[in-house]
Amino acid sequence: MNLHEKTLAELSAALRSGEITSRSLTTHYLDRIRALDKRLNAVITLVEEQAMAEAEAADARIAAGRAGPLTGIPLLHKDLFCTDGVRTSCGSRMLDNFIAPYDAAVVENLREAGMIMLGKTNMDEFAMGSSNETSYYGPVRNPWDTQRVPGGSSGGSAVAVAARLVPTTTGTDTGGSIRQPAALCGITGIKPTYGRVSRWGMVAFASSLDQGGVFARTAEDCALVLGAMAGFDERDSTSVDREVPDYAAHLGASLKELRIGLPEEYFKEGLDAGVAAAVDAAVDVFRSLGAEVKSIRLPNAHLAVPTYYVIAPAECSSNLSRFDGVRYGHRCENPRDLTDLYERSRGEGFGAEVKRRIMIGTYALSAGYYDAYYLKAQKVRRLISEDFREAFSQVDLILGPTSPTTAFRLGEKADDPVSMYLSDIYTIAVNLAGLPGMSIPAGFVEGLPVGLQIVGNYFDEARMLNAAHQYQQATDWHLRVPPGFE
Ligand code: GLN
Repeated sequence: MNLHEKTLAELSAALRSGEITSRSLTTHYLDRIRALDKRLNAVITLVEEQAMAEAEAADARIAAGRAGPLTGIPLLHKDLFCTDGVRTSCGSRMLDNFIAPYDAAVVENLREAGMIMLGKTNMDEFAMGSSNETSYYGPVRNPWDTQRVPGGSSGGSAVAVAARLVPTTTGTDTGGSIRQPAALCGITGIKPTYGRVSRWGMVAFASSLDQGGVFARTAEDCALVLGAMAGFDERDSTSVDREVPDYAAHLGASLKELRIGLPEEYFKEGLDAGVAAAVDAAVDVFRSLGAEVKSIRLPNAHLAVPTYYVIAPAECSSNLSRFDGVRYGHRCENPRDLTDLYERSRGEGFGAEVKRRIMIGTYALSAGYYDAYYLKAQKVRRLISEDFREAFSQVDLILGPTSPTTAFRLGEKADDPVSMYLSDIYTIAVNLAGLPGMSIPAGFVEGLPVGLQIVGNYFDEARMLNAAHQYQQATDWHLRVPPGFE
């Protein structure tokens, strides 16, 4: 078996038994990235020398018997996690020259666990998008069909795992940016509960929604990485001080007596018939594993996208005001005065989608409109959370489609922001409520992967990961490899 066909859990065992070394593994993946990424554009920064030095240190740690399950395993970080001494661009011209002087908490935690950073992944500019077409570094391509998008905004991270360029990557999810690309690329991705993973050093888009998470091929691999990534961090005031369970240790539980809810609102018009059929078949697998399935209601679900597109731009307009051409990032040539410096630096540094969001957000927050838009959106956000509270009084997990369609063509929605925004119609409510959500591979429609979304109650990641793992023991969708990337 080729090394890159092994899961992270299998590679971990092989490293610790001495069957392979971290150096050989790191070389193997670097070679694959160099050979295959030209077709995909998933990786925008490679740090080969640094990675080889880290691999050597990991091998020493393994030899000394001080290794954990992640020691020596290569990964790539989404390019909005700050990395000490390595460019953090956020997919933007604005930060094309930005080298962070410190590691984000997520980067730090995984480095301490002994993981090897090979580089950084491409993404929609400042994590705004559902197709990875808004990156300053060009679009990322879906390995299942390179004429199609991988989803966004963590498209590079999803593609790198799907094409077996690394066993795992990090991502962030503000409205669906881990789950939707995981679905479109046929891999597993989890966005934990808001506050589970520190946002320190993760460049902010919409602070009340942003949450870091993991991509891998299996739920078991996600469990291993999430366990090392999560935990309290006093540097992030929204980080929650609550013990991190040993997620991998929970993977043996039976699904008998598990209560699953299917939201009626998620199976209505707008859902592709092929996707619906794949999701129905996946639900049948859960039934056959002993789960009890019932229908539930999320009556305010239809308000999630409009609510998000007031709150997220409002927060982004405030967060992105720090990029002013003065302190860091892009600065225009020969400014005439301070106003000219601000206007041209921001005008040149940001792309169209980012500008659209800043304008919408500034408008929604301005005097006279604040109550009508921002305050109203916050009230609806509460109603959406209450729907989930009610649902979780009846069921343990909520299942449904992750995305209404499979991967669409590059350019197909580029000129139609509203149709692009609807890609996240099933994922956004989960961020508004701060709940954990994941997507797992659940079939194909005309050769393109379908994702099943699993939503859990607050801090119930262990139950979600176990349910996903049991499903993956009974199915093999997560093992399928895009042709040409075997
Ligand atoms: N696609 C959504 C947006 O464009 C969500 C992005 C995200 O989760 N970062 O805002």
